[in-house]
Amino acid sequence: MEERKYIDLHTHTTCSDGTFTPEELIAKANEIKLAAVAITDHDTVDGIPAAIEAGKKYGVRTIPGIEIATHYTDKKETEIHIVGLFIDYKSEKLNKTLQSIIDERNNRNAVMIEKLKELGFEVTLDELEAVSGGKVISRPHYARILVSKGYVSDIHEAFSKYIGDGKKAYVKRTLPCPEEAIKSITDAGGIAILAHPTLYDMNFRQIRKMAEEFKGYGLKGIEVLYSTYTYEQEKEVERIAKDLGLLYSGGSDFHGENKKGIYLGVGKGSLRIPYEFLEEIEKSL
Ligand code: AMP
Ligand code: MN
Ligand code: MN
Ligand code: MN
Repeated sequence: MEERKYIDLHTHTTCSDGTFTPEELIAKANEIKLAAVAITDHDTVDGIPAAIEAGKKYGVRTIPGIEIATHYTDKKETEIHIVGLFIDYKSEKLNKTLQSIIDERNNRNAVMIEKLKELGFEVTLDELEAVSGGKVISRPHYARILVSKGYVSDIHEAFSKYIGDGKKAYVKRTLPCPEEAIKSITDAGGIAILAHPTLYDMNFRQIRKMAEEFKGYGLKGIEVLYSTYTYEQEKEVERIAKDLGLLYSGGSDFHGENKKGIYLGVGKGSLRIPYEFLEEIEKSL
């Protein structure tokens, strides 16, 4: 019998908020025999060249990608994530857009550091830069510092008490709108994918309506396989993709130690993303 090939189209490295370097992540992919991996760091393409190099060395197909958070306003404002696959990571326009998102993160860092100080927690920009190891500083980096300084006992406590959405030291980021993110991915030759729709505070009817709207901006696919989906969620999301003629994508959203219990390729252990998803996505390029 022919051996089936599996892939992972949603992963994070140390260049954003993962704990595996691009090389380590691809080496791991090789170890678990994944046929292809997309690197989809938040707001940066910095990990892609090293990942592609490692991909050549290990024989793992490495797809250049990105994940961009957006603010979607329907009846209320929701943070919606868009994944881009097969982007031209050297695109000047895309890099400019990403830089403006990072600039906005830096503005937010100053405010978050201040809020933490008011709570009696000292977290400095130097520490954040050291932990992040890259130019994208995000909340998991704050969490790691709060843990290492003994202010909280684990990452979960950091989020649930202080830096999670709406908590005392949380500072909302100003984000691009979905149309902007989808278009900047498409303009860079990429395929825009709606990431993990079940993680938003929306029902399937609302998700369908949103996906339909996004299709009008150039959305090409949806993550129909994802680490946290139940069987029922998987079927519902798949039905939406099928009805709207959107491509199937899937990924673990691997972050290494920053998302405990989520493993590369297999998510919580049973995720299997078929190579055929990638073939269909490629056909549409
Ligand atoms: P940021 O982009 O800086 O607002 O940080 C968002 C990142 O924090 C997400 O990509 C997740 O990796 C992580 N995150 C958000 N909420 C939680 C939570 N409740 N528990 C653990 N990690 C979280
Ligand atoms: Mn993340
Ligand atoms: Mn996401
Ligand atoms: Mn992600």
